[in-house]
Amino acid sequence: MASPLRAAAFADDAAGRQDKLKNSDSASHSTAPADTFFLPGPVLLLGAPGVGKGTQAQLLVTRYGIPQISTGDLLRGNIARGTELGLKAKAIMSSGRLVDDGIVNQMVLHRLQENDTHRGYILDGYPRTLDQASFLDATLASLDLPPRLPVVAISIVVAYDQLLQRITGRRICPTCKSIYNIHFNPPQVEGVCDLDACALTQRADDTEPVFIERMRTFEEQTAPVIAHYRALGRFEEADGDQSVDAVNAAIQTALLLLRQQVPQAAGR
Ligand SMILES: [Zn+2]
Repeated sequence: MASPLRAAAFADDAAGRQDKLKNSDSASHSTAPADTFFLPGPVLLLGAPGVGKGTQAQLLVTRYGIPQISTGDLLRGNIARGTELGLKAKAIMSSGRLVDDGIVNQMVLHRLQENDTHRGYILDGYPRTLDQASFLDATLASLDLPPRLPVVAISIVVAYDQLLQRITGRRICPTCKSIYNIHFNPPQVEGVCDLDACALTQRADDTEPVFIERMRTFEEQTAPVIAHYRALGRFEEADGDQSVDAVNAAIQTALLLLRQQVPQAAGR
C-alpha cells in the first residue's frame, strides 16, 4: 500500500516522525519545521468573514510544507500568464459576468497536477458550490493523483456576535496601517493611533449592514458544501474563538481525526 513516493516522503524526515508521535496538544508550535511525515492530503478550509482563515491557511502551509490553492490566485495567475483558460475568464469578467464553474474547475484540475501537490494542499475558496465539490471528488478519484487521499473539510467557527464585533470594531491608522479593535484591542486614547497620534479610520465595508449581507452570502454558499462533506464523514469544526496558535492546534487536531476516520487510500 505504501507507494514508492510515500515511502520516499517518509524517509525524508526523521524529525517529522517524532512530531507525529507527540499528542495533538503539542502540535501548535508554529516555529517547528515543516511536518513532512504526516500526509495532510487535500484540506478545504472554511470560515466566515473575519474568522482569520487566511492566517490559519498560512500557518498550515508552513506547518505541513504544502501549497495553498485559492481560486482568486488561480484566476489572477491564469490571466497574468495568458493561458487559454485565463483568456476565457478575462473575457467573461470584462463583460461583467461571473466566471463559471467549468472554467474554475479546469483551472483547479491543472493546478492539482503540478508537482508541489503530492503531499496535499490547502483549498481556499474552492469548492464553493456543490457542483464544484462533486467535480473535485470525482476528479481526485479518477485521476489517481498523489497523495490519493479524499478532500476533508474543516470549518473555523466563531460566534456571530463575536465576528460582528471583530469587524465593526476594527479601526485603522491611515498613516502606519496599525489595526485596532475598539472591543478587543483599543488604542490608549480613543480614536487615536498609539504610535503616531493620527486619527483612526474605519473601512467603509466594516459596517453591520455589510457584515450581515456577507454572512448571508457566506452561509447560503457554504451550507450545501458543508452538508456534502458532513454526509461523507469528512467534516469537522474548529473553535475559532481562541488565540491564533490555539485555533491552529484545533485545526490540526481536527485534521488528524479526519485522516484517522477516512480510509487512507481513496477507492483502492
Ligand atoms: Zn499609526
